[in-house]
Amino acid sequence: MNVRKEKDGRLVIPGEPLSVIEEFMPGPGTYVDEKRGQVKAEYVGRLHIDLKERRIAVKPVAPLRIPQVGRIVVGQVVSMDDKYAMIRFPSGKFTGFFTGVLNISMVSRRFVKSMFDVCRVGDIVRAQIVSLANGFCHLSIIGRHLGVIYANCTQCGKPLELKGGSLYCPRCMRVERRKVALGYGKFRGEFIEDSHTRKGR
Ligand SMILES: [Zn+2]
Repeated sequence: MNVRKEKDGRLVIPGEPLSVIEEFMPGPGTYVDEKRGQVKAEYVGRLHIDLKERRIAVKPVAPLRIPQVGRIVVGQVVSMDDKYAMIRFPSGKFTGFFTGVLNISMVSRRFVKSMFDVCRVGDIVRAQIVSLANGFCHLSIIGRHLGVIYANCTQCGKPLELKGGSLYCPRCMRVERRKVALGYGKFRGEFIEDSHTRKGR
């Protein structure tokens, strides 16, 4: 890694070493890896080398939309267990995805025993960012407008329909449990950009 051979404007990826700390100061879009003594790229962008200031920076290729506390996001449940669900939501056109964690205590003001009564992997969920503590994005679905807005049958994969407050599979003729949000079924997948999330599974 010889920064003098580095090309200004080159595309870099998150975590990529850009320079040693003795050589360049970390500028915007970079961070210092103390262990290795390197300046690394924080996100996808173009390398910017300021030889006069001895500073190296990364300019984002698209405006970064870092999640903010209070923001409502729409994402997909990518993994879960009894007490937690991980929800992935898009964070901008080219900047990728964020994953937030939903704790069972942030599902309802009342006691909820299992996350499997709340959502399932593949469900599309509307949630609110409540904290960014400890480097994690913490989500809440407390409130009538928050919760599952699209779900497929866990048996046959057909979209579940809302009937009399329950989610019903017209093919299997069974009811599934979810914490349904107001406006369930109106989601058409417009703002989920990834093909994995489009399948809804
Ligand atoms: Zn079914």
